[in-house]
Amino acid sequence: MTKSIIALPLKINGKSTDIYNSQNVEISLPKCCPFCDQVQTPIVINNSGLEEGSYNFSVILECNNCNQHFLQSYIFNNHSSTRMGVTLKNADILDPIYEVDTDDLPTEIISCSEEFANIHKQLKMAEKQNLSELLKLGYRKAIEQLVWDYLIKFEGKTENNLQKKSFPDRIKLLNLPEGDWLSDLIAWIGNDGAHPYQRHENLTNQDMKKLSNILISNIQTLIQQHNYKAYHSDNK
Ligand SMILES: [Zn+2]
Repeated sequence: MTKSIIALPLKINGKSTDIYNSQNVEISLPKCCPFCDQVQTPIVINNSGLEEGSYNFSVILECNNCNQHFLQSYIFNNHSSTRMGVTLKNADILDPIYEVDTDDLPTEIISCSEEFANIHKQLKMAEKQNLSELLKLGYRKAIEQLVWDYLIKFEGKTENNLQKKSFPDRIKLLNLPEGDWLSDLIAWIGNDGAHPYQRHENLTNQDMKKLSNILISNIQTLIQQHNYKAYHSDNK
């Protein structure tokens, strides 16, 4: 791993304190490009400043192969050395932290199936990264998880019982008024996402998201009904 020494301009509230005021730091450069995967020593293009009281900074790099720019974040570690009277700090590579919020999911859904919320979060990240080929199958997995967890938590089904049923049959156990076509369409698109041939080319990722949202709002209503019904029977 190639090392490089950079100077971070010291900043307060995003503004440089003095153009001569900087912190020297030794960093390890990333071993390969995140876009083309080519192993190399990337070119250092520029770097962020260092905010007062902060230990994080970022470096813009350029790939030698595909020439795209990418960002690498770092965090100071406890090592430092002194060269010619100047302090040289040391920093480690910091993996990106993806903060995709789950606010667009109803609280009933998140508490019914944390695993669904987790898969849903990954689907949003995949969409942002243009991984469109993974979405149909991913949504199918997410919906299967939600239906599975709902049936176990609220309808008293067992894993053993559910394993014997097909995915459309599990959706039918929800007894939704529009359940028949909904379960078929979700199964069809999910299958297309898993197969090299497409039986329903007209049904896109966007359709899968809409159908998923229909199912989510239906299950949310079922949970709300369940909760109010339980309150009613406990208090009448
Ligand atoms: Zn590249």
